Amino acid sequence: MELSDIEIKQNLEAIKSELPQGVTLVAVSKTKPIEMLQAAYDAGIRIFGENKVQELVEKHEALPKDIEWHMIGHLQSNKVKYIAPFISLIHGVDSLSLLETINKEGKKNNRVIPCLLQMHIAQEDTKFGMNVNDVLNVVGSEAYKSLQNIEIRGVMGMATFTDNTEIVHQEFKQLKNIFNQLKSQYFANQPSFNTLSMGMSDDYKIAIQEGSTMVRIGSSIFGHRYYANK
Ligand SMILES: *Cc1c(COP(=O)(O)O)cnc(C)c1O
Repeated sequence: MELSDIEIKQNLEAIKSELPQGVTLVAVSKTKPIEMLQAAYDAGIRIFGENKVQELVEKHEALPKDIEWHMIGHLQSNKVKYIAPFISLIHGVDSLSLLETINKEGKKNNRVIPCLLQMHIAQEDTKFGMNVNDVLNVVGSEAYKSLQNIEIRGVMGMATFTDNTEIVHQEFKQLKNIFNQLKSQYFANQPSFNTLSMGMSDDYKIAIQEGSTMVRIGSSIFGHRYYANK
């Protein structure tokens, strides 16, 4: 059974009442039908996160145009063109070459596309992302400096899926440290470098304690997902 509109609204109210000021909620709606997104929209949500390009494009076409769409999944270079005209934030940038592709598509659309660098902080090696050296190499490179149609707004990461909250605390601390290091060394003159995207349904309270400015919450709003959609 999918959740009713009223249950979605209640879930949203409960979550919003716990978010400190300055923490942005991204409602992760992957695999969920348009009607459920509309219910969240009617309850005041204007930022949705999706992880598949085709699904994101279809939902963008079907829903009101004042929604900000965030791409939170792994993004393949050949699909950037489909979201480049309208995407508000790409969370999962994990290489210079992807950044260059996003820049090229941004240019074609005459816009600057906001991006987050995805960092690998979890113990599991299945999660995408760069390590500290990768990131420092990217933002320190001449190639990066020439990109006029992307703007790096911060970093994103996912903690290990574990009941051991100490590990989760440590990993989010580590991500916050990377964010601070980048901010002071490379983005001190860019106030829009202000986004630390960390925290999902199971760990967003810990993420907020560790300084998250943007949480990505799916199942606690819309209920469990019934089929695999990584
Ligand atoms: C699915 C997903 C989420 C939301 O996960 P929930 O556990 O349902 O809150 C957040 N971030 C990313 C990158 C995801 O793929």
